Amino acid sequence: MHILHTVKFSKSANAMRDLPPDSGAEVAFAGRSNAGKSSALNALAAHKGLARVSKTPGRTQLINIFSLDDARRLVDLPGYGYAKVPVGVRDHWRELVDTYLKQRKALKGVVLIIDSRHPLKEFDRQMLAYAEAIDLPCHVVLTKSDKLSRSEAARTLALVRAELGADGSADARVSVQLFSATAKVGLDEARDVVMRWLGSA
Ligand code: GDP
Repeated sequence: MHILHTVKFSKSANAMRDLPPDSGAEVAFAGRSNAGKSSALNALAAHKGLARVSKTPGRTQLINIFSLDDARRLVDLPGYGYAKVPVGVRDHWRELVDTYLKQRKALKGVVLIIDSRHPLKEFDRQMLAYAEAIDLPCHVVLTKSDKLSRSEAARTLALVRAELGADGSADARVSVQLFSATAKVGLDEARDVVMRWLGSA
């Protein structure tokens, strides 16, 4: 059993003041709606209902906090890339996510979940730009890779790595991997990154 299997839902936050105290270590998960973020979180925690997979588009989404122990957390950020969300709601999420990324001292890195069939959309580029601006490590998880042929998946991985300058060097701020929640591809690779950031590789 992996230590991430012990992660538990802690609370939801709709404002910075609702978050737990800013101490210890956190890894945030971001992704456009429908990218496969909930499925990825569930797969990493081996817990089917952890982050609910079926969500109504447009329903208010919150920052969801999952605790590993008193000092370590996973943070599920709202995916505000969905076009049908009312502008006011989207602006609120954007501001909340911006503030969270800029202010949160416990935040050690961002896992950016991207549908491997639709890489590097506007939302993803914005998130990568934020991370770069504040020198925050970013790990790109190209999910639903089971929907691509082996060669398409390899080509997508190479393209995204090249575009982001993810050259695998020790000081690289960006890394990229293939993943599938359904086919259980890349779970250990993603878990290793998360645990390294949480300070217990
Ligand atoms: P979220 O909005 O980013 O949290 O996305 P979800 O996790 O709810 O997934 C959106 C849709 O993609 C759902 O229908 C999932 O069943 C599907 N999905 C998620 N991950 C995978 C995957 O790795 N492979 C396949 N084939 N489908 C996936």
